[in-house]
Parts: sequence; C-alpha cells; structure tokens
Amino acid sequence: MDPRNAKDAASRARRVAVVGAGVVGTSIALALRKRGADVTLLDRDEPGRGCSYGNSGAISPGSVAPVAMPGVTASVPGMLLDPESPLFLRWRYLPRALPWLLRFLASANPARVEASAARLAALHAGAVEAHEAMTRELGVPELLLKRGHLHLYPDDAALAKDAGGWRLRQAYGVKVERLDRAGIEALEPNAPRHYRVGMYLADHATILNPFRYVQAMARAFAAAGGRIVRTEVKGLQPRGSEWMLQASGEADGASFDDVVVAGGAWSRALLAPLGIRLALETQRGYHAQFEGGGSVISRTVVLADRKIFLAPMEDGLRAGGTVEIAGLAAPPDERRAAALARVARESFPALRDLPAHTWMGHRPCMPDSVPVVGAAPGLAGLWLATGHGHLGLTDSLNTARRIADGLLGQPTAVAQREATLAGA
Ligand SMILES: Cc1cc2nc3c(=O)[nH]c(=O)nc-3n(C[C@H](O)[C@H](O)[C@H](O)COP(=O)(O)OP(=O)(O)OC[C@H]3O[C@@H](n4cnc5c(N)ncnc54)[C@H](O)[C@@H]3O)c2cc1C
Repeated sequence: MDPRNAKDAASRARRVAVVGAGVVGTSIALALRKRGADVTLLDRDEPGRGCSYGNSGAISPGSVAPVAMPGVTASVPGMLLDPESPLFLRWRYLPRALPWLLRFLASANPARVEASAARLAALHAGAVEAHEAMTRELGVPELLLKRGHLHLYPDDAALAKDAGGWRLRQAYGVKVERLDRAGIEALEPNAPRHYRVGMYLADHATILNPFRYVQAMARAFAAAGGRIVRTEVKGLQPRGSEWMLQASGEADGASFDDVVVAGGAWSRALLAPLGIRLALETQRGYHAQFEGGGSVISRTVVLADRKIFLAPMEDGLRAGGTVEIAGLAAPPDERRAAALARVARESFPALRDLPAHTWMGHRPCMPDSVPVVGAAPGLAGLWLATGHGHLGLTDSLNTARRIADGLLGQPTAVAQREATLAGA
C-alpha cells in the first residue's frame, strides 16, 4: 500500500461491508456503526425478509443442547419416510445433503455434544438482557414479552425422550421449574388437557414481531448514518489490503477495509470461491400464523412432543417448527405448514375458525449447531457470522458484540473450528 494511503486509512473510520440484512447482519451493522465504523449493509431484499422474518420469536438462552444429540440416528428412518414428521429429508436432495448429514450424525457423540453445549452457553449468555436493552433503545419495548417459556409433555415417558437436553440445561445452571397439571393451568388455562407435565423456563423471553424488530434496527442504523444498499452480492475479491464487491447496481466494484458475511443459509456460496468451505446446510422451517388467536396463550408454549413452538405474536398466534432438509431451491412443501396449523387447531379449539397464512424460511445450520462467528482463517479483513441455526434471533446481539470487538480491535473469542471449516 502507498504510505500516504496507509496514513489516510489509519485516520479515517474503518469502511465495513456487511452482507446480509437478517437479524444477525443488521445487529452487526448497528453495533459497528455505533462504535464509529463507516458501515454499508447490503441485501438483495429489504432488511429482515430472510429467515429472520418468520421465526418463533423465542429468546432461549437455556437452549444449550445441540440439535444432534445422542440417539438422533434413531430418528433418521422417520425423517426419510414421513412427510409430517418434525424432521424430514427429501429423497431427491439426499445425495447433496449426505456429507452434511454424516457430520451431523458424527456430532451426536457425548464428547462433541459437551463441547457444543459449552460454546452455545457462552454465546447465549445475557441474551435476554441484551434484547431487553435493545428493544428499549430502539423505542419498541412492547416487542419484548418477559413471561418465560412453557414446554409441555403428555407424561414422564415423553419427557424422558428429551432428558439429555434438560440435563444439559441443568448442568449450565438454567433455571427450570417442573410443573404438574395444576401448575400448567395456573400459567396457561387453555393448555390442552392431555399435557400433564410442564417444564417452565421463567427467565426466557419472546420477541412479539421478529420482522418489525429487524426493521426497527435497520431504521436506527440508517438514522445513525449507516447505508443500506439493495443489491445481490455475487462475489468478494481481496485486492491489496481491501475487499472489492462484485454486485448488482451501484455497489459493484465498491471497496471496503473489511467484509462481514452474514448471509444466513446463503453464506456458503459466497465463501466457497475464497476457499472457505463451510459445512452449512439449510434446515427449512415453517410457520402457520393465525389471524388472531394470540390471546389463547399468554407466553411461548412449546408442544414438546410435537416439536412445535406456539408464540402469541402481536398480530396473531404463530405455530412454528419442523426441520426439512431439502436445499435452498425447492419450493415450500405446504403439507408441512398445514400440519403445524392442524396440530395448533386440534390443541386450541379457539383457533379452529381462524384463517392462517403460512411461511417457510431457511435456518443456516452447522452440523454441531454452533455458529461460526469471528475472523476467517487466513483472510485478513474477512469476518464470518453465520450458522446460527435454530437460535439466530437469540444470539444476534451477542454475535454482533463479538464481531464488533474483533473487527474494531478488541479481544474476541474467534471461532475457527477445524471440524466446521474443513471441506464439507
Ligand atoms: C420456523 C423457524 C422458527 C425459528 N424460531 C426461532 C426462535 O424462536 N428463536 C431464535 O433465536 N431463532 C429462531 N429461528 C432461527 C432464526 O430465525 C435464524 O437463525 C436467523 O433468522 C438467522 O438469521 P440470519 O441473519 O443469519 O439469516 P437471514 O435472516 O436468512 O438473513 C440473511 C440475509 O442475507 C441475504 N443474503 C444472503 N446472501 C446474499 C447475497 N449474496 N447478496 C445479497 N443478500 C444476500 C438474504 O437475502 C437474507 O436477507 C427460527 C427459524 C425458523 C425457520
């Protein structure tokens, strides 16, 4: 670099491109801008329209158990055969998904589960407090509901199937109260009668409109002088000490000191040409949202035996869940969202006559459920913030803090896991 340019670079604010305006990228852009960086947030769509649009809104710092728990292999035949099972794999996509699936299954051994739980617990720490502060700062405190989460099981046998997850929560000091039927009814009088065992996480919280939350963040970012550019980023090229974007429209050819890739489930394609082969796969999830019905429950209720989250959103009741391995390109399978709506209607008769609309989103998932957050190995100025799986809303603000600390020169725990970055 010309010494005069080096001097200029040292005296001016760091120019950072954040690719992807989901809850993760938008949180990062806002955190960096607040700390003085010159930030451009790029997305082909408006902020918050990706996976962050339709999630269940749960802020779940107690979810330290990865998805691949010991015993997960037993669920594989069901995944392949039953299109309504909570886990489903499309046959046609199997050859593409196989390397990831093998890593997923390999992650399900006790030692790896312990390691993932420790990393997840560290990333989740303080999430509820951080979101509470953020909703206040954004002027939308009404978006945070602090009434805990109630997980429901029909009986002890059903609870026993999730015993590993509850044991891990206990090991990490997560506060959980076991409730009998009377305890369940005291919190949720409309809870379906066959649920006799409740596990209540009183410290957990819910964002009542995840899309409006990201939009509020994006507005705050723009008001603080951040730029939001609507563009498809096609490539990232190192050029000297800078990064140049290949993009549609005005952003094409723009140069930055740093680039943060926060493209959710699409991040893999952007990184592959740079030699970074992330073991990232989309776990497609669905929701059915009822027009009204939000008042049948007063907090997030999880039908744990059906793996369905019910959330009392500000604009109706949302039933979210399912994991479908079918790639980024296949159209949504409406049967899966219909199954969510059916179970919700069976569980709560008040929903029976309410219309519901459906949605599908791409969870960006690593085999061991641990997001990739930090500096890209061997590529100065490139930062990774993806792979947040089932907990990207929960972990968005803590991810933003880690990236801002690392990028602006403060110490950070940089995630460089050989298991996840080596060839997928
Ligand atoms: C049904 C369901 C329920 C869920 N429930 C919860 C929950 O209760 N709590 C929780 O914490 N998490 C939940 N999640 C997970 C959470 O929604 C995700 O982890 C999170 O939204 C991921 O955020 P993200 O910003 O990484 O990705 P996204 O929101 O998908 O954002 C990525 C953005 O990058 C853009 N992009 C990608 N590549 C490019 C490119 N080349 N050029 C331009 N733009 C690009 C996309 O357009 C997109 O806007 C749920 C997910 C689903 C599907």
